[in-house]
Amino acid sequence: MQLVTLSDGNLTLPANLVFAPVADRDLLSVVAPLGIEDLTAPLTPPCNVTLIRDGARTILFDCGAGPAFQASAGRLLDALSAEGLSPDDVTDLVFTHAHPDHLWGVLDDFDEPMFLNATHWIGREERDYWTAPDTVDTIGADRTAFAVGAARRLSAIEGALETFEDGQEILPGIAAHLTQGHTPGHVSFEVANGGQTAMIIGDAIANDHIALARPDWPAGSDQDQEIGAQTRRRLVERLADEDIIAVGFHLSNGGVGRVERTADGFRFNPQV
Ligand SMILES: [Zn+2]
Repeated sequence: MQLVTLSDGNLTLPANLVFAPVADRDLLSVVAPLGIEDLTAPLTPPCNVTLIRDGARTILFDCGAGPAFQASAGRLLDALSAEGLSPDDVTDLVFTHAHPDHLWGVLDDFDEPMFLNATHWIGREERDYWTAPDTVDTIGADRTAFAVGAARRLSAIEGALETFEDGQEILPGIAAHLTQGHTPGHVSFEVANGGQTAMIIGDAIANDHIALARPDWPAGSDQDQEIGAQTRRRLVERLADEDIIAVGFHLSNGGVGRVERTADGFRFNPQV
């Protein structure tokens, strides 16, 4: 089994989206040593799509933002092509959650499904949340576009969609773990290969600065900030203590590496 990450480009986010909930804390002293010295400058997190090939299957975890979200993202097809792959080669497309930068690449420029031969996998809770008719009205103004966009895309791929449950081994060696908070049904995937374990964490740890340095702090990008922080704490401890390879959608240097304890938190050590 071979695991690599492919770049979908990067997002451009207002700093406020990430930093507003912790503006009253000792933020600058935490992030300045990690290279962020201007708390008002836009953040440009990378987007890392995970590709696993095991000889029989070609599996993607999330599919990037596609053409309709942000100009700096939506580049997955180029990265696939550089691996000698086309969308038709993908046998399984597995979603961590249904946010635009993870799901919207599922449709092409003409709003037709992009991955015609793939089984599309999504956690049952996540599917149920984004397809519930009242989500668009209850999610709050900041995320209404996410809800409309997710519902439309999940409906377009309905015939190819399989759901799974927390703890289920969805494909050989790949187990789903519900890691809620960022979204109501966010899922991480534990991948066992030989003696090594990797965890595809999606946005349960959504950056490599405060999410690791202070995992208990609320994250502006989490829909439920309290549950998100509890999930993040459990996850970082497990990654660090069990020496699990972390694969993060928005972590730096390709997003594959290890999480280590520091004196007062954690840090990401990318595998280079
Ligand atoms: Zn994301």
